[in-house]
Amino acid sequence: MRRPLVAGNWKMHGTCASIKQLLNELSAETLPNTIDIAVFPGLIHLQTAFAQVSDSVIAVGSQDCAVQLEEGAMTGETSALQLKDIGCSLVLVGHSERRQLQEESDRVICRKFIAAQAAGLTPVLCVGESLAEREAGQALATVQQQIDAVLVELGVEVLSQAVIAYEPIWAIGTGLTATPEQAQDIHAQIRAHIATYSASVAQELRIVYGGSVKAANAAELFAQADIDGGLVGGASLNAKEFGAICRAAGN
Ligand code: PEP
Repeated sequence: MRRPLVAGNWKMHGTCASIKQLLNELSAETLPNTIDIAVFPGLIHLQTAFAQVSDSVIAVGSQDCAVQLEEGAMTGETSALQLKDIGCSLVLVGHSERRQLQEESDRVICRKFIAAQAAGLTPVLCVGESLAEREAGQALATVQQQIDAVLVELGVEVLSQAVIAYEPIWAIGTGLTATPEQAQDIHAQIRAHIATYSASVAQELRIVYGGSVKAANAAELFAQADIDGGLVGGASLNAKEFGAICRAAGN
């Protein structure tokens, strides 16, 4: 039985005051203890977040890490070891906004994945197709290529200490959500693909869905057999909405 994960990606949002308030409000929500819950604040708000969640069930992760594991001459970067040192337990790698805006390649993402695991962080590997790729019937091929950039390079066992987030780009921040059937279809095919390397790793792997998840659609998405929770952007900035999404995953 896979334990669901619901994670909030706060992107480049917030101030110290608003992050504090959001976490206070979230702590006041009734959160299920049958799922894992995490938030990914911006780097400069990590310390503020840790201070707020110290005695709660909410884990804190980073939205990115450097390709290099150790500290060094990499201006503007933060290493996975530094993130571990301040208390992070998870890190997003390969979010589509970084693939697009920072031109991160599969190779760079693979190096970040390696650094994350070497530091003892759980990488959340984000994959997903563009609208053009979906319309060309290339959704699965795109996603498989993004996964294989890690899987073939490092071996399937690395996925036993990772999470995959399937996030169709056309659904991120657009209000367009994949239907539960569309999402389940890709999730099931991702799991089947990984099962060709290891049935047990595929069976245990958490594959979460991201792309305009909100309280109104979460239950239906999370009811799908291969959807093990969500990576939530916009809706995670509202504690009541995010709390409701967490409860949908806990039911
Ligand atoms: C995301 O950025 O990972 C995301 C899924 O965003 P949203 O929920 O706003 O679509």
